[in-house]
Amino acid sequence: MTDVSAAVRTSESAALDGQGCAASIEVHREQGQRQAFCGLAGIVWLHRKIQDAFFLVIGSRTCAHLLQSAAGVMIFAEPRFATAILGDRDLAGLADCNEELDRVVTELLARRPDIGTLFLVGSCPSEVIKLDLENAAQRLARAQQGRVRVLAYSGSGLDTTFTQGEDTCLSALVPEMPGRHDGAHALLVLGTLPDVVEDQFRRLFDAMGIPSLAFLPPRRASELPAVGPGTRLLAAQPFVGETAAALVDRGASLIEAPYPFGVEGTRAWFHAAGAAFDIPADRIEEAIAPAAARAERGLARYRDELAGKRISFLPDSQLEIPLGRFLQRECGMELTEIGVPYLDRRMLAPELELLPADVRLTEGQDLERQLDRLRADRPDLTVCGLGLANPLEAEGLTTKWSIELVFSPVHGFDQAADLAELFVRPLNRRQRLAL
Ligand code: SF4
Repeated sequence: MTDVSAAVRTSESAALDGQGCAASIEVHREQGQRQAFCGLAGIVWLHRKIQDAFFLVIGSRTCAHLLQSAAGVMIFAEPRFATAILGDRDLAGLADCNEELDRVVTELLARRPDIGTLFLVGSCPSEVIKLDLENAAQRLARAQQGRVRVLAYSGSGLDTTFTQGEDTCLSALVPEMPGRHDGAHALLVLGTLPDVVEDQFRRLFDAMGIPSLAFLPPRRASELPAVGPGTRLLAAQPFVGETAAALVDRGASLIEAPYPFGVEGTRAWFHAAGAAFDIPADRIEEAIAPAAARAERGLARYRDELAGKRISFLPDSQLEIPLGRFLQRECGMELTEIGVPYLDRRMLAPELELLPADVRLTEGQDLERQLDRLRADRPDLTVCGLGLANPLEAEGLTTKWSIELVFSPVHGFDQAADLAELFVRPLNRRQRLAL
């Protein structure tokens, strides 16, 4: 939890950085106490995705507890993450942390020869004592003589929020990606997707005739895709803005599109990708039509249960805007408030165009003020972090954990109905409890 000064309220047009956004949405900025996970949470899904990587958090017991409680229930094999705990002597500057770190890493790599890439993940304590993990990573990589790639990124709560940890992690991979100089066009999908969703997308891109396709992160860090002037970048997650900027610096160009949530968003996402490769719209539609029709049928089951219900998003995962757009436009829900931890205009311009112009959109958080508004609104459903859900339930509000929306496969046509069902479930639970 971070306590910053009093709330600031500003408004601005969402005619976004020259992006030509037609919508004019007031953005209310707030600062104050906020409640969201730190970027360490990203390790939970990143370690499952990148199968030859290991994440070593240099942190405190709190960091270890966070990881264990967030990920512990999902571990079925030997985990590929750990915390090197900074003790009192380290924090007081009485021990040489670099020496300790070298010892821990050497032991770890000797015990786990399957590790191809080791991420040193910074935390609040390592940041406070100014432990230079970038330098440590270079030193350790040299000691490994090319056997293991060692990289560093920050998951600290001081400078990252929840899903931002994925962005800092992927940014650290960008300089490691080989260059692409053949000028040929290739599509790079950016942002972690469950393997099952990645496979579905691959089949649809193949059917559309996309000539070359890769995903970042890949399933193995040893198979990093190439990047260069021919790379067309398509984001699957809205929280990878820093990585997108680093890839653009290496010559890639970003395709602007809504995110592939729901039928509408997924259809627009595929069409934007196809258009970037000059694929005719009817060919794209032919490739995606069966999956889109299946998704429409699946979604219809839940539309009646969601239509007319009021929903508020508290700032947490950065998925709030695309999910709000899906629920309002495809499920008939009413948006009471959408809160986002930060508004990345470049990554969200096409989504903002699809929101109603009068939506209450807040950037940042002043927790008490936000809770006051929530209590006044009393929406049918509140999407929020784990820490707020129980107290709000006790006040009679129905909640949905935003973390579940990050962990579950929710992208694409085949998951559109499942996504809607995730919002129906807490409403049904509340109804049953009332009975
Ligand atoms: Fe807490 Fe900071 Fe560790 Fe995150 S990185 S668990 S906010 S101490």
